Amino acid sequence: MRQITHWIDNVSFEGPVERWGDVFDPATGKVQARVALAGVEQVDLAVASALRAWESWKDVSLSRRSAILFSFRDLLERHRDDIARILVSEHGKVFGDAQGEVQRGLEVVEFACGIPQLIKGEYNENVSTAVDTYSIRQPMGVVAGITPFNFPAMVPMWMYPLAIACGNTFVLKPSEKDPSASVFCAELFHQAGLPDGVLNVVHGDKVAVDRILTHPDIGAVSFVGSTPIAQYVYELGTKSGKRVAALGGAKNHMIVLPDADMDLAADAAVSAGFGSAGERCMAISVLVTVGDAADRLLPKVTERIRKIKVAAGNEQGAEMGPLVTAQHRDKVVGYIESGVADGATLIADGRDLVDRSGFFLGPTLFDHVTPDMAIYRDEIFGPVLSTVRVDSYDDAMKLLHDNPWANGVAIFTNDGGAARKFQNEAQVGMVGINVPIPVPMAYHSFGGWKASIFGSARMYGLEGVQFYTRIKVVTSRWPDPSHRGVNLGFPQMK
Ligand code: NAD
Repeated sequence: MRQITHWIDNVSFEGPVERWGDVFDPATGKVQARVALAGVEQVDLAVASALRAWESWKDVSLSRRSAILFSFRDLLERHRDDIARILVSEHGKVFGDAQGEVQRGLEVVEFACGIPQLIKGEYNENVSTAVDTYSIRQPMGVVAGITPFNFPAMVPMWMYPLAIACGNTFVLKPSEKDPSASVFCAELFHQAGLPDGVLNVVHGDKVAVDRILTHPDIGAVSFVGSTPIAQYVYELGTKSGKRVAALGGAKNHMIVLPDADMDLAADAAVSAGFGSAGERCMAISVLVTVGDAADRLLPKVTERIRKIKVAAGNEQGAEMGPLVTAQHRDKVVGYIESGVADGATLIADGRDLVDRSGFFLGPTLFDHVTPDMAIYRDEIFGPVLSTVRVDSYDDAMKLLHDNPWANGVAIFTNDGGAARKFQNEAQVGMVGINVPIPVPMAYHSFGGWKASIFGSARMYGLEGVQFYTRIKVVTSRWPDPSHRGVNLGFPQMK
């Protein structure tokens, strides 16, 4: 059986492995490889490698760093389909979607190529006569990233290209469910000229995560995953004196006003609800229909759902692949059962596909869902779309604001005034206006509000540069006889 092991010091880890995890092919349901699960010693090896590498990497010139990132970007472009195939085989998403994932990661690499411009400090001459003050951005040292299963290439690329561009060295702990893409990309970065130890990958579970969160040589941790683990990572990491950015789960609402273009809204609801089988933190999972919108929207949504081709991600024409594991599929099936038991109206039932080999589940649509039902309250993270009918825009906003999560939200309307009001009032981190998945480009930053984030730092963009650097402020003057004299007062810079 194929074995996936850690990538430490730019080589595959050959040492003893005490625990292994299974990596499935979600389309067949079979175990296709086993992945090494790191203990404390392996994490320590990776951190030691990163610390050694940092001694010289922090002083590598900005143009050299930038040149390596440009080469990495070219290699990613060249190997885009290879990476996409890995994503299809371990995550289960369809090939076109996987190619899109690589593209969105690559865009962060492109952003990081501009590091000489991004990392500039500020300078004031004459804060006092002949005294200058300037700020410089310096790297944190060794930083770590812990990432979820649903974007095995893109989410790590939200972190390590920018961290490394800023002069840090990196230890990545990707999801143990689909670990191969991280190692493949680390090898490409090495080919691009990245010195040994600047990027290390350790596979593992809670044992590895806990070691990362308490390791004294790690200065900052970026996390993306579910809300309970994000909270845990934030609390333990900050208690251990680290800077932590932790993004959590979501329950994204799509509000459809009665004046919306219902064909556009139906296309968007189906694409954003069932793309990647709903395993996206920005997936739409709740349709909030205002007034009579549901009566006109849901037939169009249903018509589109019936045409979705559910098949293995590498099959020609496949639009929706399987879920990542049998355990996750069964959990989602449990939610469909609970929705039926709670009295919601089941319009499309994805359980028809469950008997196939592989972890398949078809697209599922509920109507007449109420806020007390588990299918509304919980993040299902599968192909289940719930419709909540409300009477007015104000009712839609109350529903939105009573929800603990606030990652993304979308409104569909042709009324510019309503959209403008919504943009201003929505208490959510990422807002789409007639755009169902408003994921910001690499030069903005990504992150939600409320229970979708812990700490204030969001991913990539300028906030990424800020997170991965510390500001040092220098005040300087050069010897001049006129400066002589003792003064015990607090400096007033006159
Ligand atoms: P998860 O929280 O189960 O796992 C994320 C990471 O944490 C993995 O590397 C995993 O190994 C580790 N982990 C899991 N359990 C742990 C524990 N008990 N202690 C320490 N570490 C642990 O998330 P997932 O199932 O891999 O991914 C799906 C979740 O991620 C969803 O909730 C989704 O909304 C969220 N997500 C959020 C964003 C965002 O930007 N906000 C993006 C992608 C995914």
